Amino acid sequence: MPQKTTAAEIGAQDIRKTFGTFTALKDVSLTVGRGEFLTLLGPSGSGKTTFLMILAGFEAPSAGKLFLNGTDVTHAPAEARGFGMVFQGYALFPHMTVEQNIAFPLKVQRRSSAEIKRRTQDMIEMVGLGGHGHKRPSGLSGGQQQRVALARALAYEPSALLLDEPFSALDKNLRGQMQDEVRRLHREIGTTFIFVTHDQSEALALSSRVAIFDHGQLQQVAAPRDVYERPASRFVAEFLGDINILPLSNGQFEGGAIVAGPDAGTPSGFLGVRPEYMQLHQSKPAAGNGIAARLEDLTYLGSETRLSLRTKGDVPLILHVPTASLPEGLATGAEVWAGWPSERGLYL
Ligand code: ATP
Repeated sequence: MPQKTTAAEIGAQDIRKTFGTFTALKDVSLTVGRGEFLTLLGPSGSGKTTFLMILAGFEAPSAGKLFLNGTDVTHAPAEARGFGMVFQGYALFPHMTVEQNIAFPLKVQRRSSAEIKRRTQDMIEMVGLGGHGHKRPSGLSGGQQQRVALARALAYEPSALLLDEPFSALDKNLRGQMQDEVRRLHREIGTTFIFVTHDQSEALALSSRVAIFDHGQLQQVAAPRDVYERPASRFVAEFLGDINILPLSNGQFEGGAIVAGPDAGTPSGFLGVRPEYMQLHQSKPAAGNGIAARLEDLTYLGSETRLSLRTKGDVPLILHVPTASLPEGLATGAEVWAGWPSERGLYL
């Protein structure tokens, strides 16, 4: 079993990156703790890859500083940082076997041949490729190739592993398996992982914290549950799954008072409620909030049913309700109520 490595603490302070007149990163500051699994999440073009390349040392920031375990490494070359990297298109050496690919960085580091042999075998076992060591990459599936890339990046015990959309070319099932694999490797090795994705569920499933980017700006850094349940902005709320947005006027929605919970944020022009927290009622709910609406569509999804409603003021609502809880004979066109507990409303 490989030994636990010394995990890196990585700090970014006011990192700015411009390409000509375009600003790709706007004063990004965050600290990645030792052994943390941080995911950089955001839409295409939001600056995730640029930020990762700056952390790795492959791009220089236009302004700002980087720290590795408290030491300023802003101008240190990539090799001096000693991070492992796994990219979507990070091709394995095609003419080398799996063993030779994994051994390569160890040879570059001039480790002893006994150590190279032992670590290569350890890594092959660790990523579940026992018996495949003699094969060339062309003889492996896409998932197996990414396992080799992971093994190669982890072989020399980097203090941090940086992964940029490593599974985006894999099909959904394989992607799920590789996510489990990466989580297990992170637990076993204990090194710092920084993972880039634009897939919300991947980010929520994998990370200890998620850093959300939009237009080069860091919007929020928090645990998965917190970014989902307590989004810092309307952008974060809408980016992380479905949310109903109710425009408010003087604390009211379509003439009825709306009550929000103590943690809902600062009263503002909109209230957000996740579809899974809205319930269907056939009359005005006795407790919590309620708004009258017409049922426009029902989509049966097995254990859940997705309901599309529209309020009198033409605001669309989505409800995800357990199919078993639906009233008999419910049909489109029905006049219903959508209710939710006040603490589930968020000011956005
Ligand atoms: P994706 O998920 O599509 O990879 P991303 O969030 O990783 O997106 P980046 O690749 O970091 O985004 O790009 C951020 C912005 O910076 C984009 O608008 C991109 O076009 C721009 N950009 C990145 N690299 C360069 C470059 N070398 N020259 C000019 N513009 C660049």
